[in-house]
Amino acid sequence: MALQSRSPQRPDDLVVEVEEADAVAVDQAVGLARKAAGGWAAASALERSAALVAAADALAGAAGEVTDLMVREVGKPVAEAAAEVARAVGILRYYAQQALDPDGETYPGPDPAALLLSRRRPRGVAGLITPWNFPVAIPLWKAAPALAFGNAVVLKPSPDATALALRLAELLAPALPNDVFQVVPGGAETGRAMLERVDCMSFTGSVAVGHQVAVAATGRGIPSQAEMGGLNATIVLSDADPERAATVVAGAAMGYAGQKCTATSRAIVVGDPGPFTEALVTAVQGLAVGDPAEEGTVVGPVITDQARRRVVEAAQEAVAAGGRLLTGGKAAEGTGWFVAPTLVNGLPPDAHLAQEEVFGPIAVVLAVADENDAVRVANGVRYGLVGSVFTSDLDRALRLADRLDTGMIRVNAPTTGVDYLAPFGGEKDSSYGPREQGKAARDLYTSTRTITILPHEG
Ligand code: NAD
Repeated sequence: MALQSRSPQRPDDLVVEVEEADAVAVDQAVGLARKAAGGWAAASALERSAALVAAADALAGAAGEVTDLMVREVGKPVAEAAAEVARAVGILRYYAQQALDPDGETYPGPDPAALLLSRRRPRGVAGLITPWNFPVAIPLWKAAPALAFGNAVVLKPSPDATALALRLAELLAPALPNDVFQVVPGGAETGRAMLERVDCMSFTGSVAVGHQVAVAATGRGIPSQAEMGGLNATIVLSDADPERAATVVAGAAMGYAGQKCTATSRAIVVGDPGPFTEALVTAVQGLAVGDPAEEGTVVGPVITDQARRRVVEAAQEAVAAGGRLLTGGKAAEGTGWFVAPTLVNGLPPDAHLAQEEVFGPIAVVLAVADENDAVRVANGVRYGLVGSVFTSDLDRALRLADRLDTGMIRVNAPTTGVDYLAPFGGEKDSSYGPREQGKAARDLYTSTRTITILPHEG
């Protein structure tokens, strides 16, 4: 079956049309990867490191072109797209160095002269299933560690980011041995076919699919990790500067049309919500909405017509449930999947919009009486990716941060933004399996082997 990827700002712009990889094609790709993996794992760590540096150089050399393709294929505003490509280059360089880290540990053996060692070894073929919203950084924050530690990689990108994945494979090919990094375009069926064949699996996407992936991987007895949705809260304490908090929350909620797993979906305001809410509405209304190719655009289109409908329906449903629309709530006129940044208040914390991820430019403001209520509301959802707190009181920040059920906590900072050298992941329905990025990535892409060596004559 043919797969099409179209530009969300100009849906008549067909970015790429390719055949989906069926089970036969996936089988062939994984077979080739498995053959190539042996040689790659046997190469010296210095060779693998140099290859990743060359891959970083290739991507850096094509940064402008890849940025433009990202703007065109997934509608990411150009400044964010350029930053993502630069980050991806940084990720490749970072894991090029990690390939040279110690690859094991020694322990006291049964005899003082004995060696008791534990050494890391690659899993074999790493399968990656990725979403469209960070179409270069996510595939690479998985592929770079997988490759650094000696695995071959088969990537099944989101159908909506197919052109970018194929371009990435072309750019990386000269730096790597044949078949060590391959892309299989396709949707759910291609992903399922891959899951049946690879040696470990890393998934990023929605909760429903992530759970299916984890179940299927466990059924086969292969290790897996799934990074899934978020419904991230920013708690604004009464001692915070409301204007500053509002400016940050506006960007974190609406930047790239709210299509980040780390986007702020809930602003929880302790005490009088008036000054913060007013400042937030002003800040959101001041965001530049429009063509993502224009420098200065903060909010581009959402990815599909269906995604746009979801945002508008979520706003209508919130109003029907007693919420008040503070701004937005409507699709924009004309071509392209644009929708106005939308804010709602007046909803109880158990309202649907305050409980479920929409994945678009829509957020709720929830007023609470005190810090205990703030924690209860922040934690009262099935997600637990990232939480943030705005306050000028470090003691309160520390106490609150300690009580939040999220994998990442940021103080006086937006919920968005990822530091690739630290572990990344969430709690509850947001994550399954070991953490990604930083040194943590090694846990999925390697296994350990314990080796005992005794003196020949005891
Ligand atoms: P999605 O779950 O629809 O798709 C993700 C990937 O899974 C795609 O490649 C898709 O083709 C594939 N897929 C779909 N059904 C499958 C199946 N049954 N078996 C195997 N593969 C299948 O998600 P999306 O719309 O591409 O991305 C948006 C979601 O991703 C949001 O929920 C967002 O929060 C989440 N996300 C999470 C993180 C994170 O790190 N936690 C980062 C970015 C996005």
